[in-house]
Amino acid sequence: MDVKKKWDIIIVGAGPAGSAAGYILAKKGFDVLVLERGRQPGYKELFGGRVYAEPLREIYGNDLDKAPIHRWVKKEKLSFVDGNKLVSIEYQSDTSTSFTTYLPQLAKWMADKAGETGALLVEEITVDKILYKDGKVIGVGSGPDEVYANLVIDAEGVNRLLLEGLGLVDKLKPEQVAVGAKETIKLGEDKVNERFGLNKGEGMAWLLMGGITEYIPGGAFVYTNKDSVSIGLVLHLGHAVKDVKDHISQMVERLRLHPQLRNLWIDGDIMEYGGHLTPEAGPAMMPKKLALNGFLITGDAGGLLLNVGYTIRGVDFAAYTGYLAAKAAIEAHDKGGFTEQNLKTYERMLKESFTYKDLTRLTGMQDLYSDARMFSALPKLAVGTASNVFEIGLETPGIWKGFNKARKQAGLGLLSLAWKGYRLIKKM
Ligand SMILES: Cc1cc2nc3c(=O)[nH]c(=O)nc-3n(C[C@H](O)[C@H](O)[C@H](O)COP(=O)(O)OP(=O)(O)OC[C@H]3O[C@@H](n4cnc5c(N)ncnc54)[C@H](O)[C@@H]3O)c2cc1C
Repeated sequence: MDVKKKWDIIIVGAGPAGSAAGYILAKKGFDVLVLERGRQPGYKELFGGRVYAEPLREIYGNDLDKAPIHRWVKKEKLSFVDGNKLVSIEYQSDTSTSFTTYLPQLAKWMADKAGETGALLVEEITVDKILYKDGKVIGVGSGPDEVYANLVIDAEGVNRLLLEGLGLVDKLKPEQVAVGAKETIKLGEDKVNERFGLNKGEGMAWLLMGGITEYIPGGAFVYTNKDSVSIGLVLHLGHAVKDVKDHISQMVERLRLHPQLRNLWIDGDIMEYGGHLTPEAGPAMMPKKLALNGFLITGDAGGLLLNVGYTIRGVDFAAYTGYLAAKAAIEAHDKGGFTEQNLKTYERMLKESFTYKDLTRLTGMQDLYSDARMFSALPKLAVGTASNVFEIGLETPGIWKGFNKARKQAGLGLLSLAWKGYRLIKKM
């Protein structure tokens, strides 16, 4: 790397946000340097397994069809778990708006796209400071090296230590993030199809809540890849630090061995294991500013991830906000330079886009996460009702009686249930 050279733009992090920004900016002709601490893009990242396609289509057009897409999600499933029993809602369609993939493969593909347009990716460099002088960001530092640029884009992901160093955010608080752990189990393509009832190329996204996370706010996921399944848990850290009794890896183990699930992957081989944080608090954890003189913040670093319980939109939000950061940088450049005033277009673009609108409209889930009873009472009610209705001895209880018995067992009054149901639907 030519550390003496002054770059037009330095991007910190070759995740979806950084690579999408690098792709657009290098395509426009800017001299772009992307610095990544991992051995390869994606090696330091972790996700569940599903990406919504439309935002990526807007960035890459038909090239997206050449991305490492494993399966198009045609089956969605949501399950409430209580002990060894579960109740599920399933949705099947012959159309699809999302696909499954391995993040290291997708991140590499996106970084390669940025490389094809001329961005230079340098791996195994950890940026440890953002250089700030005379009211302006002027470059980045890594150990004794300093590299200068007219604009720095921070796409460092959820930990955002660099933003902390700049005084733009406080230390992450447990209630702002969730912790996730995941295993990928190799099964073979035919077994994935047979066991999940899928045709070739079709995928499934399955979210589970309740006993599967020991009633701690969060959920479990199962995604089908081409010839493997990804299974894991996401736990709201504010609750997890108080209520998790043993290691999260033990909880993933219990998910893998759950009597209603284990046959789905019984003879598979675990090929990957990992853990990571993910932002949860939406706008409440956004930095004070997303644009400074010579500086923009994008993706998870900006808290720009949507988690509404039944789905998580991180990769597409990160890519799209990286894309908007790039568009704003181009506009700022055309207006005369990367001043805070010119770069503020980014905040406007975000506010006008689906990303910010969804984040402000739907992250009422945050309030729900503070109501841990939601994650025990609802699954107990759903599973209890089904169990009372379907497990018939002498008497046939009928649905209302079965429901009422389960409601009392779950300790829910009719009024409080109606109130919780109303809040849930409104917040979602
Ligand atoms: C358990 C779990 C499940 C998830 N499931 C899904 C899912 O199914 N679908 C979905 O869309 N999203 C999911 N997400 C969220 C998704 O992974 C993120 O939202 C997305 O990866 C964010 O992209 P990003 O580019 O902002 O950050 P990241 O993907 O975190 O990329 C940041 C990059 O910056 C690099 N970096 C960081 N600091 C430095 C530094 N100082 N110097 C140099 N490089 C640095 C990192 O190595 C990394 O490559 C999940 C997350 C978790 C934890």
